[in-house]
Amino acid sequence: MSNGLRGRTALVTGGGSGIGRACAGALAAAGAEVHVVDIDAGAARTAAREVGGVAHVADLADPDAVAALPAAVDILVNNAGLQHVAPITEFPPERFVRIQQVMVTAPFLLMRRTLPAMRERGWGRVVNISSVHGLRASAYKSAYVAAKHALEGLSKVAAIEGAAHGITSNCVSPGYVRTPLVEGQIQDQAAAHGLAPEAVVGDVLLARSPVKRLIEPAEVAAAVLWLCGPDSGYVTGISLPVDGGWTAG
Ligand code: NAD
Repeated sequence: MSNGLRGRTALVTGGGSGIGRACAGALAAAGAEVHVVDIDAGAARTAAREVGGVAHVADLADPDAVAALPAAVDILVNNAGLQHVAPITEFPPERFVRIQQVMVTAPFLLMRRTLPAMRERGWGRVVNISSVHGLRASAYKSAYVAAKHALEGLSKVAAIEGAAHGITSNCVSPGYVRTPLVEGQIQDQAAAHGLAPEAVVGDVLLARSPVKRLIEPAEVAAAVLWLCGPDSGYVTGISLPVDGGWTAG
């Protein structure tokens, strides 16, 4: 879709790293002007420079910071996320709340902020980076699984409300992607299970995935780009698993 998004403006949260960074790159390569939002100032600036876009340093758990982000965008990619692994009985409540703030409340506030301009133009694309954990549960990930299931529901409501206005809203729901977030989990799980990191990838992370490799961020970004392109206007309210067959089982 080279230049297919020329004239469009996109906002990508968590655009400083991993999947968000790959999305920012793919959208910019297709011609969009990209706003890169991240709590990590250095990462936001580097990624924005890389794609010729604009960096915004914001903690998405802070509603005032969200309220300062651009409202007049055509494409919203709700991607920022974080993980915490612990049994429910030991899960720190403040960590649970923060995960909901960043991964559910911020996407809601950003939709609330950006949908009016999309409606005015009669075109908009909301892509929510969910997860296979928006569709399936795993032990020790209560906050993350709850947040991703909530995001799946929020995305469907935005799809129904946006349909009459040329706005689609969809989730992209990956299995394990080779990003810093997963590298961290590999270390945590290795410690929790007393395994070598390579064994964690094969035996723990990919245990339920028929395709036995991590996904590359660019493969997720390609799905996001397609959902923002000219051939997907009838695709709305879905969750697109990019999960190596995990949810087929
Ligand atoms: P990552 O850690 O590489 O990147 C996440 C980015 O979000 C980081 O740059 C981080 O600074 C930013 N961020 C975190 N908290 C923030 C906050 N409060 N305000 C602003 N920015 C914040 O992670 P990733 O693997 O690229 O994950 C991106 C999204 O993809 C997440 O929503 C994650 O749940 C989802 N996802 C990841 C995988 C995977 O295997 N990596 C799988 C499924 C879904």
